[in-house]
Amino acid sequence: MITLSKCPVCNKSELSIFLSTKDYFLTNEDFDIVKCNSCGFKFTNPRPNESDIGKYYESSEYISHSNVKQGFVNQLYQLIRKITINRKIGIINQYFKKGSILDIGCGTGEFLNSLKLQNYDTIGIEPNEIARKHAIEKYDLEVLDEEGLDKLEKDKFDVITLWHVLEHVFHLDERINQIKQLLSKDGILIVALPNSNSWDAKHYKQYWAAFDCPRHLYHFDQVSVKNLFLEFGFELIKSTPMIFDAFYICMLSEKYKTGKSNMIKAFFYGLKSNLSAMFNQNNYSSIIYILKTNNS
Ligand SMILES: [Zn+2]
Repeated sequence: MITLSKCPVCNKSELSIFLSTKDYFLTNEDFDIVKCNSCGFKFTNPRPNESDIGKYYESSEYISHSNVKQGFVNQLYQLIRKITINRKIGIINQYFKKGSILDIGCGTGEFLNSLKLQNYDTIGIEPNEIARKHAIEKYDLEVLDEEGLDKLEKDKFDVITLWHVLEHVFHLDERINQIKQLLSKDGILIVALPNSNSWDAKHYKQYWAAFDCPRHLYHFDQVSVKNLFLEFGFELIKSTPMIFDAFYICMLSEKYKTGKSNMIKAFFYGLKSNLSAMFNQNNYSSIIYILKTNNS
């Protein structure tokens, strides 16, 4: 395990324990989330070494990497994924009707494939070998491993997307700088992240499924996203909710908290989270941030 002594966003060293939680998804190990006293950024600390993180992903239930699971939850997940893909493409269409797209953490490639079918030029990055092979073999996509990022042409991409990926990235500074270099002059960066200031996060506390320690190394909210990207010369141009995430996260959180899925309860809490966000500064369970470099 590695203990960070400084805040990854503002570099200040006064940190307080925000919450103690567990890896409810897989290992049941204990983890702490700390909060920076200066800027309020929350992160998992200590966290596993980069070389050990693989074992925390070794589960057949990690459904973003698998299309073969059965059952109601997974069927629902697949259906929502379809709707969500269309919504994501809708967002991209608003900025670029054609062009080149880089999806970092593309998983099994469904989103990229849908873009490819609309004649966008697509490249994916996916560290998981099984998911990567699936994307290449099933959809004939160009998908590289993480090191592939270093080989890509600079100023090339009109759109770079990270859908629920940045919270997993070990070297945040390096990665954001790299993304900045890969973006074209007028390119946009789209980042989707769980919001640790959402109603469901506050309701479920240590059981909130989107804390997902230690896979999630950072626990963003609207303020920390803005601060982080400002530091790298990005300006937030728009943010928009992912309303389905509240239901999914509440369902998993119910399971972590009570041992049962409690579908109906989870549905109402998901609804409550979304409604509460409408009246509380758009603090939705998950948020899509659209960013642009401010020197372009
Ligand atoms: Zn800080």
